[in-house]
Amino acid sequence: MRITKFARVFVGIASFFVTGVYLSDSGIVFPVKPSWRLPRCSECGRICPGYDHSHEPVRWVHLGIGAMRFILEYAPRRVQCPDCGVRVELVPWARPGSRFTRPLEEMTAYLAQITNKTEVSRMMGISWRTVGNIVKRVVADKLDPKRLDELRNIGVDELSFRKRHKYITTVVDHDTKRIVWAAEGKSAETLDAFFDELGEERTALLESITIDMSAAFIKSIKAKAPKAQIVFDRFHVQKLASDAVDKVRREMVRNLKELDDPEEAAAIKKSRYALLKNPWDLSAKEWDKLAAIQKHNAPLYRAYLLKESLAAVFDETSQDQAGKELDRWLAWASRSKLGPFVTTAQTIREHKDGILAYIKTRLTNGLVEGFNNKLRMIARRAFGFHSADALIGMLFLCCGGVMIEPPLPGPWCNW
Ligand SMILES: [Zn+2]
Repeated sequence: MRITKFARVFVGIASFFVTGVYLSDSGIVFPVKPSWRLPRCSECGRICPGYDHSHEPVRWVHLGIGAMRFILEYAPRRVQCPDCGVRVELVPWARPGSRFTRPLEEMTAYLAQITNKTEVSRMMGISWRTVGNIVKRVVADKLDPKRLDELRNIGVDELSFRKRHKYITTVVDHDTKRIVWAAEGKSAETLDAFFDELGEERTALLESITIDMSAAFIKSIKAKAPKAQIVFDRFHVQKLASDAVDKVRREMVRNLKELDDPEEAAAIKKSRYALLKNPWDLSAKEWDKLAAIQKHNAPLYRAYLLKESLAAVFDETSQDQAGKELDRWLAWASRSKLGPFVTTAQTIREHKDGILAYIKTRLTNGLVEGFNNKLRMIARRAFGFHSADALIGMLFLCCGGVMIEPPLPGPWCNW
């Protein structure tokens, strides 16, 4: 077999010829050219008249064997595209603007899906920044362009990165369980941009939107998608009650210290987990702590019961019944003489409709937050992303339903 034919098989891309081979300091170089005679625009892909001929050869890094790199070399032409103007021609072995071949980019994206930054950089011999750029290109190429069509039930959440100095708003499709949209920021304008991209027709199809109680998101949904039902995430609502229990507990510890009862203060201080955990997760020791609170500390025990009975409202299956239960809960919390619960009751009363919508839809942001946890892990593993763009690329790569086919041996090769 001639080396040029071998190279063509090895690179694994159709539509190009290998015209030679030589050794350079950077690896084995194959001078190549596209097999199509007429050049194509790298922006739109259409066949166009040539504009001029570059004499400067460009190199594209390809996968290697062991430590040996393979490199493709070609002097691209420029084309006069009637739509895009003067552009560099498209080459079949690489994405526009990239100095890496498609198989190398596929392999990098595949590894970025499954392993950490250090390993991807090391195995591919490229910097993390470059990995980020490759991920962006692969995602732009492979992301389902129809992902925003026919959305019915979506979830909106925010993800913080760079030590909580920056935010990304994510939109997931509850039905396909994929991330369908993301942008930097967490304001009403950020979410407005999503609805603008969706357009009126597709927005009108939306039935429900799960969110936490972010005032910015509520504002945007009410302005841009007024027909969609807002569903407040039950776990965020329940967290309000948990936070209220904790505030009551801390107040109590403070008061006891002032009353000079350090022993009792210490006992209550240690009861935090017993008070905040679900009852079925409590250890025997924590049950004892709870029993002691029931016996000696009526207000704190009342706070505990308020938290638990709010959770029970969400377990109702009839919206009517849940509505009645919630009204009873609100009345109880309002006259509980526990400041944090009076405040929580006000918040819940203001958001009652969206809270009860959960009973019917049973949708939560659990899916969104699952993604966020995954991404937080990715961001941590990668010692922090500097740009929102890079993180959004990883987000679509790992949770956007992007299918990567890395150039790996097939299943016939299982020796
Ligand atoms: Zn064009």
